Amino acid sequence: MSYLSIQGLHKSYGETKIFSDIDCEIGQGEFVTLLGPSGCGKSTLLRCIAGLTEVGGGQILLDGQDLVPLAPQKRGIGMVFQSYALFPNMTVQENVAFGLRMQKVGKAESQQRVREALDMVELGEFAGRYPQQLSGGQCQRVALARSLVTRPRLLLLDEPLSALDARIRKHLREQIRTIQQELGLTTIFVTHDQEEALVMSDRIFLMNAGKIVQSGNAETLYTAPVDAFAAGFIGNYNLLDAETASRLLGRPIASRIAIRPEAIQFASQGGIEALVRGHSLLGNVIRYRVEARGVELLVDVLNRAAADMHASGQRIALNIDAHAIHEVA
Ligand code: ADP
Ligand code: MG
Repeated sequence: MSYLSIQGLHKSYGETKIFSDIDCEIGQGEFVTLLGPSGCGKSTLLRCIAGLTEVGGGQILLDGQDLVPLAPQKRGIGMVFQSYALFPNMTVQENVAFGLRMQKVGKAESQQRVREALDMVELGEFAGRYPQQLSGGQCQRVALARSLVTRPRLLLLDEPLSALDARIRKHLREQIRTIQQELGLTTIFVTHDQEEALVMSDRIFLMNAGKIVQSGNAETLYTAPVDAFAAGFIGNYNLLDAETASRLLGRPIASRIAIRPEAIQFASQGGIEALVRGHSLLGNVIRYRVEARGVELLVDVLNRAAADMHASGQRIALNIDAHAIHEVA
């Protein structure tokens, strides 16, 4: 059963077509991520759903109701932006209460709900502070509380973590996911960061140039990319055209293929002869560049002991898992 249903949505800015035919279905309580490179239309799609920009045509149904004719404040949607967009001259408490004032919620109920929302994002003690007295991560939690307090039917998060440093980003993504699940809140999260998408989402919609090119859970997107773009965007892939693939594997291959670097193993004997060209240490993984039959490949090996490291120029053999060779368009 679909809760948010988008049919044939299109959007242009002047002569420039941003997207022409977006269709997607999102279930109630689902956490969906729009993942794609900068400029592919993620923010524009969110802004269309929120009513912050006009659509050129198509339908957006939320819980059976067409949103397109509704003003943004009538849609029951909460939105959080990368830039926080807090009011600098208002305290945390006043920022969070803002949406309730617009909805003419009474003072006692408003205070109660603001307190609950701030507790949810663990900022109960910061109610009296001003935004400039907070860190970036805290500001973003205020922005989140400000959306949650209105009890939206749909939460839209546009790269909310992109301005934060890595440690805060990881903490906050867990907090967002926990709150979302506790509230059963249908959420669309936008990011260009594949790791964020893989760890947070029930489903990922991979976007490129105004199109949703693939949708599915993390496992599907990781293991079965539909095309070369999808293969290249999520994780690392060795992408080989048919001729190169045939040369490497020593048998005729009819289409382009993708092989994950971790699906290739170093073998002590047999396999495909190869030469180590170099390596980089990625923490728990060592990524080797090897050359086999004139083909350059990436090979990821778990970093067990530095003593096992293979030096440049060393001759080795490769085994490639047959089930890890994927045909891609
Ligand atoms: P993303 O969020 O995926 O980075 P956007 O949705 O912001 O991408 O932008 C998609 C495309 O639409 C880009 O080419 C961008 O330049 C263009 N665009 C976005 N907003 C406007 C606007 N207000 N006027 C004209 N073009 C715009
Ligand atoms: Mg954007």
